[in-house]
Amino acid sequence: MTAIPFENSFARLPDRFYARLSPEPVSAPSLIKVNHTLARRLGLDPIALESPDMVAALAGNSLPAGAEPLAQAYAGHQFGSWNPQLGDGRAILLGEVVTPDGHRYDIQLKGSGQTPFSRRGDGRAPLGPVLREYIISEAMAALGVPTTRSLAAVATGDSVYREEIEPGAVLTRVAASHIRVGTFQFFAARGDIEAVRLLVEHAIARHYPDAAAAPDPALAFLQGVVARQAALVARWMALGFIHGVMNTDNMTVSGETIDYGPCAFMDSYHPLRVFSSIDHGGRYAYANQPRIAQWNLACLAQSLLPVLSGDEETGLKAAQHAVDAFSDLFQNAWLTEMRAKLGLAGAEDGDAGLIESLLNVMEEAEADFTLTFRGLADGTAREQFRDPKAFDRWLSDWRARGGSETLDLNRINPVFIPRNHLVESAIAAGLEGDFKPFEDLLMVLSDPFTARPEYGTYANPPQPDERVYQTFC
Ligand code: AMP
Ligand code: MG
Ligand code: MG
Repeated sequence: MTAIPFENSFARLPDRFYARLSPEPVSAPSLIKVNHTLARRLGLDPIALESPDMVAALAGNSLPAGAEPLAQAYAGHQFGSWNPQLGDGRAILLGEVVTPDGHRYDIQLKGSGQTPFSRRGDGRAPLGPVLREYIISEAMAALGVPTTRSLAAVATGDSVYREEIEPGAVLTRVAASHIRVGTFQFFAARGDIEAVRLLVEHAIARHYPDAAAAPDPALAFLQGVVARQAALVARWMALGFIHGVMNTDNMTVSGETIDYGPCAFMDSYHPLRVFSSIDHGGRYAYANQPRIAQWNLACLAQSLLPVLSGDEETGLKAAQHAVDAFSDLFQNAWLTEMRAKLGLAGAEDGDAGLIESLLNVMEEAEADFTLTFRGLADGTAREQFRDPKAFDRWLSDWRARGGSETLDLNRINPVFIPRNHLVESAIAAGLEGDFKPFEDLLMVLSDPFTARPEYGTYANPPQPDERVYQTFC
């Protein structure tokens, strides 16, 4: 039995879409974790993935049968600056699998050595960021956020040189695809219209099959991406998630969250919260995320202009219109998310104002984002406010609008999020060779809506001395 029944489609695209190469071997692969639930969902045998042969393959020391390893080409705007060639500098796509229920997923090794796209990088990933991506991506999935996922983490036995020497690791990332806004930009910037056309066709087949029958498939594709990104960013906002590095190469066309570098869930609420150590100007602050998403989508639209139907002027208008539509799509998705968090049935004119006024009192009081919403169901939200007068006024407005404490809210407002201090301490233990805190945290975060008294401390905000102010890639 093959451990991974590959069925590759990206590797059928022309050579200029990627560089074919194998992962670079590592000294001493050792398994940290295989994600059994995800493996089964993919139709893979988790026990087979834990065999020495497969652990070697997941470290990049051998190729599983059927893999067609390649590093994808892409470009991107990084913090607004154009970079015409990025690409997979430390990742190798092994291939794709189709699940028993018919969904296609990429299986990619991240931290698997240098590629022609590595520029000055070593192609490797330190253990800390691998554990971080594993924890946060799996937490996001459990919170109902479209996201890439983590199938396995393997230690390499090699050292990685960053600020300090760290042990190396390889993450096995699973994604609906790794096609990014920047993948389109890569070809559009080279004037390779044929490649843009092929990539649109490929992305439609994988992610937007209905668009194939639309009068202008490329436009329908753009509209689809705009809609999915509006829904995705609204979901982030409803959970207090800050992506941290929303470069166009870090935005998928599938609508999945990708690239868990310096991301963070905020503890106390502030609209301009930034954690990323590389985000000096606050470009990717919490409240900026919707307009950055729209900016990125304008980049996608620009790349698609040459393949839209009709003349240049009609194409431009249609693309502009599709990108403009993000504002209303986002606002509606955000209202839907926030109404659900507050238990507001139906839609009333004052809802946006009611939500904003809660956020304002939360900001004023530095209230914990997660516990304020979670505490609506049992009255403990009030504890987030040292001087609860303003919050009490809001509560009476909320009740007047029909908001009520119901336990149903607990299925919408999580009690557990991957708080930075918990993630950091699980990583610190992992660096000492103790993966129990990593396992425990994953277990708690796998069911973020069910309060479990024995894990109560996982719900708490950090103590002052536990507070994390910056996150790193
Ligand atoms: P990111 O900031 O993670 O989106 O990465 C941006 C670009 O840098 C991508 O092309 C990555 O493949 C590349 N990159 C990041 N880290 C490394 C590394 N250690 N070695 C080589 N390339 C890297
Ligand atoms: Mg990236
Ligand atoms: Mg990254």
